[in-house]
Amino acid sequence: MEISDLPVWAEVFPGESVQSWLEATRVSLGLDAHDWWAWCALDPKETERQAGKKIWTWLPEGLGQVTKVPIDLRIAPAWREIYCPRCVVNAPVGLRHPVLAKWLDVRSICCDEHMLLLNYRSTSKCIDVGSDPELLAWHYWLREWRDDGSLAVAEHRFRRDLLLAATRNWSPTSGLIAGVGSKWLLTEKGWLVPGMPSRLQQPGCPGRAGMLSPGDRMSALFSAWQAWMAIGEGISLALPKWPREAWHWLDARWRTRLPYERGALIADIAASLPPREHVSRLRSGRRR
Ligand SMILES: [Zn+2]
Repeated sequence: MEISDLPVWAEVFPGESVQSWLEATRVSLGLDAHDWWAWCALDPKETERQAGKKIWTWLPEGLGQVTKVPIDLRIAPAWREIYCPRCVVNAPVGLRHPVLAKWLDVRSICCDEHMLLLNYRSTSKCIDVGSDPELLAWHYWLREWRDDGSLAVAEHRFRRDLLLAATRNWSPTSGLIAGVGSKWLLTEKGWLVPGMPSRLQQPGCPGRAGMLSPGDRMSALFSAWQAWMAIGEGISLALPKWPREAWHWLDARWRTRLPYERGALIADIAASLPPREHVSRLRSGRRR
Protein backbone atom coordinates (compact mmCIF):
# COMPACT_ATOMS: atom_id res chain seq x y z
CA MET A 1 0.00 0.00 0.00
CA GLU A 2 1.21 3.46 -0.87
CA ILE A 3 0.18 7.02 0.01
CA SER A 4 -1.67 7.17 -3.30
CA ASP A 5 -3.86 4.21 -2.23
CA LEU A 6 -5.26 5.97 0.86
CA PRO A 7 -9.01 6.67 0.76
CA VAL A 8 -8.64 10.25 2.06
CA TRP A 9 -5.91 12.89 1.71
CA ALA A 10 -5.78 16.11 3.63
CA GLU A 11 -6.14 19.36 1.72
CA VAL A 12 -2.70 20.82 1.00
CA PHE A 13 -1.88 24.31 2.29
CA PRO A 14 0.41 25.94 -0.33
CA GLY A 15 4.06 25.33 0.58
CA GLU A 16 3.17 22.95 3.43
CA SER A 17 5.85 20.55 4.66
CA VAL A 18 5.44 16.85 3.86
CA GLN A 19 5.35 15.87 7.53
CA SER A 20 2.70 18.48 8.29
CA TRP A 21 0.53 17.18 5.43
CA LEU A 22 1.06 13.55 6.50
CA GLU A 23 -0.06 14.43 10.02
CA ALA A 24 -3.16 16.15 8.66
CA THR A 25 -3.91 13.10 6.51
CA ARG A 26 -3.53 10.86 9.58
CA VAL A 27 -6.04 12.98 11.50
CA SER A 28 -8.44 12.92 8.51
CA LEU A 29 -8.22 9.12 8.47
CA GLY A 30 -8.64 8.88 12.26
CA LEU A 31 -5.55 6.65 12.55
CA ASP A 32 -3.40 5.99 15.59
CA ALA A 33 -0.23 8.15 15.58
CA HIS A 34 2.17 5.35 16.54
CA ASP A 35 1.06 2.98 13.77
CA TRP A 36 0.83 5.78 11.23
CA TRP A 37 4.36 7.08 11.71
CA ALA A 38 5.76 3.53 11.78
CA TRP A 39 4.11 3.01 8.38
CA CYS A 40 5.26 6.38 7.01
CA ALA A 41 8.87 5.51 7.97
CA LEU A 42 10.22 9.06 8.12
CA ASP A 43 13.99 9.42 8.13
CA PRO A 44 14.70 10.58 11.72
CA LYS A 45 17.55 12.79 10.49
CA GLU A 46 15.33 14.55 7.94
CA THR A 47 11.64 13.92 8.51
CA GLU A 48 10.69 15.45 5.17
CA ARG A 49 11.92 12.30 3.43
CA GLN A 50 11.36 8.58 3.90
CA ALA A 51 13.94 6.14 5.24
CA GLY A 52 14.20 3.22 2.88
CA LYS A 53 10.56 2.29 2.23
CA LYS A 54 9.08 3.62 -0.99
CA ILE A 55 5.52 4.50 -0.07
CA TRP A 56 5.74 8.09 -1.27
CA THR A 57 5.93 7.41 -4.98
CA TRP A 58 3.17 10.00 -5.21
CA LEU A 59 2.59 13.15 -3.17
CA PRO A 60 0.03 15.86 -3.90
CA GLU A 61 1.00 19.05 -5.70
CA GLY A 62 1.58 22.23 -3.74
CA LEU A 63 3.77 20.84 -0.96
CA GLY A 64 6.94 22.77 -0.08
CA GLN A 65 10.44 21.37 -0.51
CA VAL A 66 12.85 21.27 2.40
CA THR A 67 15.69 20.73 -0.08
CA LYS A 68 15.48 24.47 -0.81
CA VAL A 69 16.64 25.15 2.77
CA PRO A 70 20.45 24.81 3.19
CA ILE A 71 21.22 21.91 5.54
CA ASP A 72 23.29 24.06 7.92
CA LEU A 73 20.34 26.44 8.34
CA ARG A 74 17.60 23.85 8.71
CA ILE A 75 15.65 23.46 11.94
CA ALA A 76 16.21 19.99 13.43
CA PRO A 77 13.22 17.60 13.32
CA ALA A 78 12.77 17.85 17.11
CA TRP A 79 11.85 21.56 16.85
CA ARG A 80 9.49 21.70 13.90
CA GLU A 81 6.25 22.47 15.72
CA ILE A 82 5.95 25.92 14.20
CA TYR A 83 2.84 27.80 13.22
CA CYS A 84 1.43 31.14 12.20
CA PRO A 85 -1.64 32.12 14.23
CA ARG A 86 -3.51 33.05 11.02
CA CYS A 87 -2.38 30.36 8.56
CA VAL A 88 -5.14 27.78 9.00
CA VAL A 89 -6.92 25.10 6.99
CA ASN A 90 -10.60 24.61 7.68
CA ALA A 91 -10.65 20.80 7.42
CA PRO A 92 -13.75 18.61 7.92
CA VAL A 93 -12.19 17.36 11.17
CA GLY A 94 -11.62 20.93 12.41
CA LEU A 95 -9.22 23.84 12.00
CA ARG A 96 -5.57 22.98 11.69
CA HIS A 97 -2.33 24.96 11.57
CA PRO A 98 -0.02 23.78 8.76
CA VAL A 99 3.78 23.97 9.02
CA LEU A 100 5.34 25.46 5.88
CA ALA A 101 8.58 24.03 4.46
CA LYS A 102 10.14 27.52 4.29
CA TRP A 103 9.61 27.87 8.05
CA LEU A 104 12.10 25.02 8.55
CA ASP A 105 14.78 27.59 7.70
CA VAL A 106 16.13 29.23 10.89
CA ARG A 107 15.97 32.59 9.09
CA SER A 108 12.16 32.40 8.96
CA ILE A 109 10.90 34.07 12.12
CA CYS A 110 7.76 35.54 10.64
CA CYS A 111 4.94 34.51 8.27
CA ASP A 112 5.54 36.43 5.02
CA GLU A 113 1.80 36.44 4.30
CA HIS A 114 0.52 37.78 7.64
CA MET A 115 3.72 39.42 8.97
CA LEU A 116 3.13 37.77 12.33
CA LEU A 117 5.94 36.25 14.35
CA LEU A 118 5.86 32.46 14.15
CA ASN A 119 4.93 30.51 17.26
CA TYR A 120 6.78 27.57 18.78
CA ARG A 121 5.05 25.00 20.97
CA SER A 122 4.70 26.77 24.29
CA THR A 123 4.00 30.20 22.83
CA SER A 124 0.70 31.26 21.38
CA LYS A 125 1.29 34.95 20.77
CA CYS A 126 -0.11 36.96 17.90
CA ILE A 127 2.59 39.63 17.44
CA ASP A 128 2.82 41.83 14.36
CA VAL A 129 6.51 42.02 13.41
CA GLY A 130 5.90 45.61 12.28
CA SER A 131 4.86 46.64 15.79
CA ASP A 132 8.50 46.87 16.91
CA PRO A 133 11.18 48.59 14.77
CA GLU A 134 13.93 46.30 16.07
CA LEU A 135 11.99 43.13 15.34
CA LEU A 136 11.13 44.44 11.87
CA ALA A 137 14.77 45.35 11.04
CA TRP A 138 15.91 41.95 12.32
CA HIS A 139 13.27 40.16 10.22
CA TYR A 140 14.27 42.10 7.07
CA TRP A 141 17.94 41.25 7.68
CA LEU A 142 17.10 37.54 7.96
CA ARG A 143 14.72 37.61 4.99
CA GLU A 144 17.28 39.39 2.80
CA TRP A 145 19.82 36.72 3.74
CA ARG A 146 17.31 33.94 3.00
CA ASP A 147 15.72 35.26 -0.20
CA ASP A 148 17.97 37.79 -1.88
CA GLY A 149 19.98 35.99 -4.53
CA SER A 150 22.04 39.13 -5.19
CA LEU A 151 23.61 39.16 -1.71
CA ALA A 152 27.34 38.47 -2.14
CA VAL A 153 28.60 35.00 -1.20
CA ALA A 154 31.05 36.50 1.30
CA GLU A 155 28.18 38.35 3.01
CA HIS A 156 26.22 35.09 3.26
CA ARG A 157 29.24 33.45 4.89
CA PHE A 158 29.85 36.35 7.24
CA ARG A 159 26.25 36.27 8.49
CA ARG A 160 26.45 32.48 8.86
CA ASP A 161 29.64 32.81 10.94
CA LEU A 162 28.07 35.49 13.15
CA LEU A 163 25.17 33.12 13.76
CA LEU A 164 27.55 30.26 14.49
CA ALA A 165 29.49 32.46 16.93
CA ALA A 166 26.22 33.21 18.77
CA THR A 167 25.08 29.58 18.60
CA ARG A 168 28.07 27.87 20.22
CA ASN A 169 28.99 27.28 23.82
CA TRP A 170 32.57 28.59 23.78
CA SER A 171 33.37 27.41 27.27
CA PRO A 172 35.64 24.35 27.79
CA THR A 173 32.90 22.81 29.96
CA SER A 174 29.18 22.37 29.35
CA GLY A 175 27.44 25.72 29.37
CA LEU A 176 25.06 28.14 27.69
CA ILE A 177 25.35 29.45 24.16
CA ALA A 178 27.11 32.78 23.49
CA GLY A 179 23.93 34.50 22.34
CA VAL A 180 21.80 33.58 25.36
CA GLY A 181 21.96 37.14 26.68
CA SER A 182 19.58 38.37 23.98
CA LYS A 183 16.78 36.19 25.29
CA TRP A 184 15.57 38.64 27.90
CA LEU A 185 15.10 41.25 25.16
CA LEU A 186 12.81 38.97 23.16
CA THR A 187 10.96 38.02 26.34
CA GLU A 188 10.57 41.71 27.16
CA LYS A 189 9.09 42.28 23.71
CA GLY A 190 6.41 39.74 24.70
CA TRP A 191 7.31 37.03 22.24
CA LEU A 192 9.27 34.37 24.11
CA VAL A 193 7.80 33.03 27.31
CA PRO A 194 9.49 31.99 30.56
CA GLY A 195 8.60 28.34 29.83
CA MET A 196 11.34 28.18 27.21
CA PRO A 197 14.43 27.49 29.33
CA SER A 198 17.95 27.62 27.96
CA ARG A 199 19.76 24.32 27.66
CA LEU A 200 23.34 23.43 28.53
CA GLN A 201 25.51 22.58 25.53
CA GLN A 202 28.72 20.59 25.26
CA PRO A 203 31.93 22.58 24.60
CA GLY A 204 31.96 23.89 21.03
CA CYS A 205 28.38 22.74 20.41
CA PRO A 206 25.96 22.79 18.78
CA GLY A 207 27.22 22.78 15.22
CA ARG A 208 24.21 24.63 13.81
CA ALA A 209 21.51 26.99 15.07
CA GLY A 210 18.69 24.67 13.97
CA MET A 211 19.65 22.23 16.72
CA LEU A 212 18.84 24.78 19.43
CA SER A 213 15.50 24.92 21.25
CA PRO A 214 13.27 27.74 19.94
CA GLY A 215 14.11 30.24 22.71
CA ASP A 216 17.86 29.70 22.36
CA ARG A 217 17.63 29.74 18.58
CA MET A 218 15.85 33.10 18.58
CA SER A 219 18.41 34.49 21.03
CA ALA A 220 21.29 33.35 18.80
CA LEU A 221 19.64 34.85 15.70
CA PHE A 222 18.91 38.15 17.43
CA SER A 223 22.39 38.25 18.89
CA ALA A 224 23.96 37.64 15.46
CA TRP A 225 21.96 40.54 14.04
CA GLN A 226 23.01 42.80 16.94
CA ALA A 227 26.65 41.93 16.25
CA TRP A 228 26.24 42.59 12.52
CA MET A 229 24.67 45.97 13.25
CA ALA A 230 27.37 46.93 15.74
CA ILE A 231 30.20 45.88 13.41
CA GLY A 232 28.64 47.55 10.41
CA GLU A 233 27.38 50.73 12.04
CA GLY A 234 29.94 51.27 14.79
CA ILE A 235 30.44 50.02 18.30
CA SER A 236 28.15 52.64 19.85
CA LEU A 237 25.30 50.23 19.13
CA ALA A 238 24.74 47.56 21.76
CA LEU A 239 27.27 44.81 21.18
CA PRO A 240 26.22 41.33 22.32
CA LYS A 241 28.23 40.03 25.26
CA TRP A 242 29.90 37.06 23.58
CA PRO A 243 32.97 35.48 25.17
CA ARG A 244 36.41 36.40 23.97
CA GLU A 245 36.82 33.04 22.21
CA ALA A 246 33.90 33.82 19.87
CA TRP A 247 35.46 37.14 18.82
CA HIS A 248 38.90 35.56 18.38
CA TRP A 249 37.38 32.90 16.15
CA LEU A 250 35.64 35.57 14.06
CA ASP A 251 38.82 37.65 13.95
CA ALA A 252 40.87 34.67 12.70
CA ARG A 253 38.35 33.93 9.96
CA TRP A 254 37.54 37.45 8.83
CA ARG A 255 40.43 39.81 9.52
CA THR A 256 41.70 39.76 5.94
CA ARG A 257 38.35 39.15 4.25
CA LEU A 258 36.32 42.07 5.57
CA PRO A 259 36.75 45.74 4.67
CA TYR A 260 39.59 47.06 6.87
CA GLU A 261 37.44 49.01 9.37
CA ARG A 262 35.12 46.09 10.11
CA GLY A 263 37.99 43.60 10.43
CA ALA A 264 39.92 45.95 12.72
CA LEU A 265 36.83 46.44 14.87
CA ILE A 266 36.45 42.68 15.44
CA ALA A 267 40.17 42.46 16.34
CA ASP A 268 39.75 45.38 18.79
CA ILE A 269 36.75 43.75 20.44
CA ALA A 270 38.60 40.44 20.80
CA ALA A 271 41.66 42.16 22.28
CA SER A 272 39.62 44.27 24.70
CA LEU A 273 37.87 41.35 26.41
CA PRO A 274 39.48 39.76 29.47
CA PRO A 275 40.28 36.04 29.30
CA ARG A 276 37.98 33.69 31.14
CA GLU A 277 38.91 33.23 34.79
CA HIS A 278 39.19 29.46 34.64
CA VAL A 279 41.26 29.67 31.43
CA SER A 280 43.76 32.05 33.00
CA ARG A 281 43.95 29.79 36.07
CA LEU A 282 44.72 26.81 33.84
CA ARG A 283 47.40 28.75 32.00
CA SER A 284 49.07 29.95 35.18
CA GLY A 285 48.92 26.34 36.46
CA ARG A 286 50.77 25.16 33.38
CA ARG A 287 53.45 27.79 33.83
CA ARG A 288 54.18 26.51 37.30
ZN1 LIG B 1 0.41 33.25 8.22
